[in-house]
Amino acid sequence: MPELYLLLGGNLGNRTAYLQQARESIAADVGTISRSSGLYETAAWGKTDQPAFLNQVLEVKTELTPEQVLQRINAIEHELGRIRQEHWGARVIDIDILFYDSLVLQTQRLTIPHPQLHLRRFTLMPIAELAPELVHPVLGQSISQLLKSCADKLEVQIYT
Ligand code: ADP
Ligand code: MG
Repeated sequence: MPELYLLLGGNLGNRTAYLQQARESIAADVGTISRSSGLYETAAWGKTDQPAFLNQVLEVKTELTPEQVLQRINAIEHELGRIRQEHWGARVIDIDILFYDSLVLQTQRLTIPHPQLHLRRFTLMPIAELAPELVHPVLGQSISQLLKSCADKLEVQIYT
């Protein structure tokens, strides 16, 4: 069964409660969550005048196609009350597809692997917890190699 890595993030309201609701919806609508990283806290990226984000990566076994996964995660974001505002703006929950097996896909609606994942420490750290040896199918480097060479200076802290 295809193995999917999802990144959850949010910086509004009760962040841990939104992450939990997102995990429940993903388990119900997308597939079985086989492993989940810890929670990581990071100052907002891109737009810095907003609360800090909590992020988590999930490993999910799914029978859905990437397009179907995108539809379901968009629906979950919508259900959880995300208001679509500015790019990189505050939101209660953002769900992104990082990897879908070693698939490389680029359409108008979907880019897999996620085009920014190697540039963001807050994405690499939680994936590295689950899959340090996973090789990025476009860049040809493992997650731990990408983390070592990542220039992102934003501090990412384990959130307890
Ligand atoms: P961002 O995640 O960049 O802050 P959004 O969550 O608003 O922004 O996503 C905007 C669009 O990005 C989505 O509607 C989706 O069609 C597109 N997209 C492209 N690639 C991906 C991906 N790998 N995961 C999730 N969304 C993606
Ligand atoms: Mg998104």
